Amino acid sequence: MGETMQSSVFSVDVEDWFHILDIPGAPPISDWAGLPSRVERNFSTLLDLFDETGVKTTCFFLGWIGERFPHLVREAASRGHEVASHGYAHRLVFEQSRQEFCEDVTRARRLLEDIAGASVRGYRAPGFSTTEETPWFFDVLADAGYEYDSSVFPASRGHGGMRSGRREPHRIGADGKLMEVPITVAELMGKPMCFFGGGYLRLFPYWLIRRMSKQVLAEGRPVVFYVHPREIDPAHPRLPMSRKRSFKSYVNLDTTEWKIRQVLRDFPVTTFQNVISHYPSLVNAHVS
Ligand SMILES: [Zn+2]
Repeated sequence: MGETMQSSVFSVDVEDWFHILDIPGAPPISDWAGLPSRVERNFSTLLDLFDETGVKTTCFFLGWIGERFPHLVREAASRGHEVASHGYAHRLVFEQSRQEFCEDVTRARRLLEDIAGASVRGYRAPGFSTTEETPWFFDVLADAGYEYDSSVFPASRGHGGMRSGRREPHRIGADGKLMEVPITVAELMGKPMCFFGGGYLRLFPYWLIRRMSKQVLAEGRPVVFYVHPREIDPAHPRLPMSRKRSFKSYVNLDTTEWKIRQVLRDFPVTTFQNVISHYPSLVNAHVS
């Protein structure tokens, strides 16, 4: 083989169609159990796709989903994927107090570890909602038993976003106890943007996603790809929202599975745990 392409990360935020954030029509947690769920079917489709293409991924489970559908957590673990945490109740970080956030992430970690029978090392915040206003975020995660985080969105965005955030994986928090693997941004015409997950992955044409992924790899960073199970389900129910949000939430649901297949064909991907173990600066930095 010629040059080996470094591995990127493929991740899934395991939640349902009604977990779209920050819209007036979003149902409260007390209503969730009464809504028709699509996550079992959609997540199973993703797991089959991963088996078919032979890739291992990191699955950030919402604690509420794990509690209600524990077999999905076990299924992911038994098929070789990394079980990680998306918190329990899907609340934006900056809308919680430090104490509330600590309780939410601790509850989710314990619950998912009990179900998976393995340690849960990673966390991703709903909506990448850690900001400059929540400086305690990294210390709370480390104290709650997490080893790495992938919540920093190092550019502007609707909710969350840390424009000052570093783009490459790095150590952060007191004594550098936590590893941060930020959401990937790449510059297009001088503007840092994410092409690698959610509405962005659905909106942009694949040739552009591919080109920007290569650019990131050439800069020596792994690409962090991310999807939600609902994004491969064009028939999922819709929530009431503004026209702008509706476009962003539902554009191109019918071509996302195809795009995921292209990504998995063109780029070697693996779990966060595996990628982190290949970054000496992450593993050794705080041993001094
Ligand atoms: Zn989420």
